[in-house]
Amino acid sequence: MFAPAMHPRMWSHPATRANVDALVARGAVMVGPVDGPLASGESGMGRMADPEAIVDAAVATLAPRDLTGARVLVTAGGTHEAIDPVRFVGNRSSGRMGYAVAEAARDRGAAVTLVSGPTAIAPPAGVEVERVRSAMEMQAAVSAREGEVDVVVMAAAVADYRPAEVAAHKIKKGAAELSIRLVANPDILASLGASRAARRGARPVLVGFAVETGDLVALARGKLSRKGCDLVVANRAEDGFEGETNRVVLVDAEGDEALPVMPKREVAHRILDRVVGLLRRPE
Ligand code: C5P
Repeated sequence: MFAPAMHPRMWSHPATRANVDALVARGAVMVGPVDGPLASGESGMGRMADPEAIVDAAVATLAPRDLTGARVLVTAGGTHEAIDPVRFVGNRSSGRMGYAVAEAARDRGAAVTLVSGPTAIAPPAGVEVERVRSAMEMQAAVSAREGEVDVVVMAAAVADYRPAEVAAHKIKKGAAELSIRLVANPDILASLGASRAARRGARPVLVGFAVETGDLVALARGKLSRKGCDLVVANRAEDGFEGETNRVVLVDAEGDEALPVMPKREVAHRILDRVVGLLRRPE
């Protein structure tokens, strides 16, 4: 239930309180009111919650609880690879897809850890967030939890290369040319896949992402076997990946399923539907 806008005295009135308490005791979920400016010109606890917060709460309440007891690690965002104390090599990943997966997994009952590269998005409530900057930091954060989680969703756009040396001081302008030598970063997903294969285990379930130009499904299928993961979520670079929606193809050992354009929240749930199926495999 959401509380419509009302005067703060009405919200705090004993009759309202008793009615709200009775509804909550019967299982109703209340959204708002919130503190803020009111239509009357006053300010206080009587403002209707943002429509977006009301929709979020409704979606969370209606989500299946099929990940209850599962520990899910999600990586999100791009990484920043330092050049000097103030500069870095980065990419345009917004982090939205990974944050949507973390929120959807939380809503389905999972204990979620979000390892996030630098993003402009607010951290989701009810999720443990560890902030990292570089691919090396992300790898350390992921491998520290590798043995404790049931699922890893690598939605982060991890930089493939980093500067070979990080200058201790800000590089000064002057030379007409400047070269930065790059070295390869470790492939976090591939090393999770390799160590799971070495253990001959089925956990953690591994989900990777692929942004490709060209033959999307063939390239995603190559990634599935090269990185030893269970599911690859593929999308075309031409479709862009900074917005609120996404058009993906889900590629696994059984085949591929092309989904229409949908909000990232819905894409996240479709990915987790697959994860729930993969978790049913014997360990
Ligand atoms: O090889 P490519 O970068 O296209 O693979 C993308 C997938 O691999 C994503 O799931 C990404 O998070 C993961 N990845 C990784 N470590 C890297 C590069 C990519 O885990 N160094």
